[in-house]
Order: sequence, then structure tokens, then C-alpha cells
Amino acid sequence: CGIVGYVGERPAQQVVIEGLRRLEYRGYDSAGIAIVASDAGDDGAAFGENAVQKRAGKLANLEKALAATPLPPATTGIGHTRWATHGQPNDANAHPHLGERGRVALVHNGIIENFAELRDRLEADGHVLRSETDTEVAAHLLELEVEAGHDLTTAMQRVCRRLEGAFTLVAADARDGSRVVAARRNSPLVVGLGEGESFLGSDVAAFIEFTREALELGQDQVVTITRDGAEITTFDGTPAQGRRYHVDWDLSA
Ligand code: GLU
Repeated sequence: CGIVGYVGERPAQQVVIEGLRRLEYRGYDSAGIAIVASDAGDDGAAFGENAVQKRAGKLANLEKALAATPLPPATTGIGHTRWATHGQPNDANAHPHLGERGRVALVHNGIIENFAELRDRLEADGHVLRSETDTEVAAHLLELEVEAGHDLTTAMQRVCRRLEGAFTLVAADARDGSRVVAARRNSPLVVGLGEGESFLGSDVAAFIEFTREALELGQDQVVTITRDGAEITTFDGTPAQGRRYHVDWDLSA
């Protein structure tokens, strides 16, 4: 029930795990992380097994797995704490989920109401889904759009137009560590703007130890974060403005 995204200069693992810890109060049954390795980027790149790790249970389980199999160095990453709605709380159903070829990684809070119909169509086209979640269909669809030549931002807009329900989505492309793309419909998402780094979170607790400059999205919007800031559009690609504000309260925890 928490979402984190990061593009910047710090070690992504540290920022993402710290963000997830700050969101633990929201409740969850599993946790996971994907990073875009700094030395990735060649043709055909996909997320390696070590670049995506996810575990049922407490964040400590994920941290133990990360200690045993460290992530490659990275300054771009996404993270998730899950509150299962579709499929058991187990490692396979934990997020991130990958597209068919493992190029796009996606985390999701909420419910994709029309996932069964989308899944049936993907399976008819030969896709193999590896989890029982409603989320994985969106990862496959997103990757199809990217493989068709759309950048991740355009791909996200195109996929969101086909999704029904409530969702916060955050995605990364294994071939492009310069951006992380997110979307929201009836589910929370806030952007944090730092110097040479940008953050995404379910709420500002995910990043206020790093920056207090925040950007609130409207409904049905897509945001692309880079080291230089954030760009917002509607689901149909029209540029949009967020509401910029300064967080002036402190974490009590
Ligand atoms: N519906 C998704 C799942 O069951 C996301 C749940 C959540 O909000 O964490 O995996």
C-alpha cells in the first residue's frame, strides 16, 4: 500500500527502502524493489534477476534478500509495499511485475477492474503471466507499447486510457535510467523535487527527509520524473500543471 520512485544521484536502493519504511504505517503484506543498473542501456537490455527483488512479509525479509544478493549500483529505482487484492501474498505476486520480455518493471497500488478481459486478450496473443495479480497485465501492456517504439511516458498514457479502476502506477524501463514514469487515478501520488534528483511517493513521508518541495498531481494524470524535475500530462498527452507546495511539518516517527 505504498509506492516510491527515484531518479537522481544517490544510491537508489537506499532511497527506495528508506521511503518504503516511511510508508510502512499504511500497512502491507509484501515488499519489492527494481533498479535500473547504471551500466545498463545496451540493445536488448532487460531487468536482470538481481535488479528486481521482492518478498512476501515484512520489509526486513526484502532487506535480508538484498543483503544476500546485492542490487547492482544504480541511481534510478522504484519500490512497493503491497496490500494484496488479487492473488495471495507470496513472492511471485509481490511487485514489481515485469513485461513479457522483462524490459519494463511496474508497481501498482489499487485495483485494475478490467484486468480479466485484458489478461484474456494477452494470453490469446501468447503472453505468459507469472502472477495472479491484476497488475501484471498493465506491465505487459506497457512493455508492448515501449517495444512498439513509444517512450515510457507515451506508453503510460496509452495504457492508462485502457485501464478501469483505481490505480497509482510507477514504471521503469531497463534501457532508460533517465526517467521514471507514474500515473494516478483515484489513488494517491505525490512528486518530490530536489536538486538534481526527483522522487515519487504515495505521500510526502516517502521523501521529506530528502526534499520538502512537493508537487501534487490531479486526477488522471501521468508524471515523468528526471534529475531535472517533473513533467505532467493528462492521459491523452495534454500538458498539465501540478500544485506546487512546501512541506513545513515534521515526521513524528
Ligand atoms: N491489486 C494489486 C495486487 O493485488 C495491488 C494491491 C496494492 O494496492 O498494494 O497486487
